[in-house]
Amino acid sequence: MRLILLGPPGAGKGTQCKRVVEKYGIAHLSSGDILRAERAAGTELGSKAQSYMDSGALVPDDLIIDMMIGAIKKASTGYVLDGFPRTVVQAEGLDQALSNAGEKIDAIVELQVPDSAILSRMTGRRSCPVCGGVYHVENLKPKIDGQCDKGCGPLVQRKDDTPDVVKNRLKTYHEQTAAVVGYYEDKFPILTINADQDIDKVTADVFKGLESLVR
Ligand code: ADP
Ligand code: AMP
Repeated sequence: MRLILLGPPGAGKGTQCKRVVEKYGIAHLSSGDILRAERAAGTELGSKAQSYMDSGALVPDDLIIDMMIGAIKKASTGYVLDGFPRTVVQAEGLDQALSNAGEKIDAIVELQVPDSAILSRMTGRRSCPVCGGVYHVENLKPKIDGQCDKGCGPLVQRKDDTPDVVKNRLKTYHEQTAAVVGYYEDKFPILTINADQDIDKVTADVFKGLESLVR
């Protein structure tokens, strides 16, 4: 199964993707996680991406398209894309690569959340730098305060989850990424989910929608 999960930063894409990959046995391809891993490993791509990520801007399309097409080629059991495509140019690059490989996306899920809910989600987010687990200081607390439930160690607050950078990321989303939904609307049925609800309710709606779309 090949899925794309769309939505603004803080919509809950990473949170829901973790549950989708567990249920369907597919790979979670998060462009943000891959970029953070490149930075942690000190690669050339990681250092090129750094200033864009820290300010809440988008990393240039050519770097992202090559990185994500490379990851897709390795995902033999299927995948859910999280955070990619984030521009129409990236969506076109993905289309081209899929059509060259004779493959297609099975479903697109869009998580809808009003801007007013996003700031507190992102400033309260805590992430595990080891396994990529995502928590929230109020909405999704770890079992032991500040520690990953999987025993990886301390949780961290992402540098780009500060109020100023969050505002920039939201601006970037509206200016450059929201158009991706329109790009796909003409090509695919999009499963639209109200993501301004309890996390488990969102998961239930995603699973229910996927059952009907993918079958
Ligand atoms: P994204 O990957 O879209 O940026 P995340 O999955 O990282 O978003 O979620 C952002 C933050 O909001 C996390 O701290 C997460 O625990 C929290 N969160 C996710 N979904 C919900 C929800 N439905 N209601 C409240 N908080 C949520
Ligand atoms: P995320 O983890 O999805 O919130 O992404 C964190 C940051 O990585 C973004 O603010 C961007 O700077 C960068 N990034 C992630 N995915 C993309 C993408 N598809 N295109 C451009 N930049 C991206």
